[in-house]
Amino acid sequence: MTDILFFEPHLDERIWGGDHLRHLYNALSSTQPIGEAWLISGMKNASSTIKNGKYAGKTLRDCFRENPDYFGFSESPEFPLLVKWIDAQAKLSVQVHPDDAKAKKMENSRGKTECWYVTEAGPNSYLILGHTANTKSELAEMIQIGDYENLLRKVKIQKGDFVYIPAGLLHAIGDHVRLVEIQQASDVTYRVYDYDREDTFGRKRPLHLQQALAVTTVPSPSISIINYSNSQGIVRLVTSPFFTVEKWTISSSLLWTNKEKSTSLFVVLEGEGTVQQLPFKKGDAFIIPWKVDAVQMKGKASLLHAFKLRNER
Ligand code: ZN
Repeated sequence: MTDILFFEPHLDERIWGGDHLRHLYNALSSTQPIGEAWLISGMKNASSTIKNGKYAGKTLRDCFRENPDYFGFSESPEFPLLVKWIDAQAKLSVQVHPDDAKAKKMENSRGKTECWYVTEAGPNSYLILGHTANTKSELAEMIQIGDYENLLRKVKIQKGDFVYIPAGLLHAIGDHVRLVEIQQASDVTYRVYDYDREDTFGRKRPLHLQQALAVTTVPSPSISIINYSNSQGIVRLVTSPFFTVEKWTISSSLLWTNKEKSTSLFVVLEGEGTVQQLPFKKGDAFIIPWKVDAVQMKGKASLLHAFKLRNER
């Protein structure tokens, strides 16, 4: 029998987080702010756990290693995608990730391209997407003198916005933003600017300026933001070499055929319903393995659907 797998997230306490994820995932024993829920993760020390079916109680990390054929990502020794819900009550540091080639050379790791679907934003919420420097030396100089006011491109955002963040793009999440992040499974991050913040012991978090300069794309590509608040049915948000993402809006019922024969990752953004009679609600994450030919979903809900086309890495 091929199960649809539901997940218990790995929750990460972060100083910049809030209490939304604690309530969403019923982690009421914790009193610290929670910044990230790793909903579908096979990452070391931060794997999500399977809740149902024959693999119940196993981490996705172990399950993937023991049953690679179940997931069908045969080209990848580790689970290749990572899905998080992020609650940024304070702003996050400005950072950049390498692409696959540079990550291999610099860290012997996978690179990181990611994308964000904004689920909540305050009236003044923004993202940082790219920079204004025209050359590497201009970028280095503006970082050196700390001219972030002129360097960083700030873009206002609202609920329902979607943005694709290629490796090499300088980026950050501003304050009072909640978003779902779908990315290549990698934790290589080079921090460029942390607003000179100090922790309670007066320490600053380390920066990685040399590495960041080596991997940042100059000049920055233009990045488009598209709003999908009122989308209907199945809408494709991005097709990339790393993942394809769709938004699904279900108003009563939907019969879906897995034409691509791909393993599908889902996050429930809003509402509730069932998939093959298994109930789901806002915040839930599940995987439909590639061997499942068709599923019926019922209910009133919106979901993100992420998968890798067969020829994708
Ligand atoms: Zn990032």
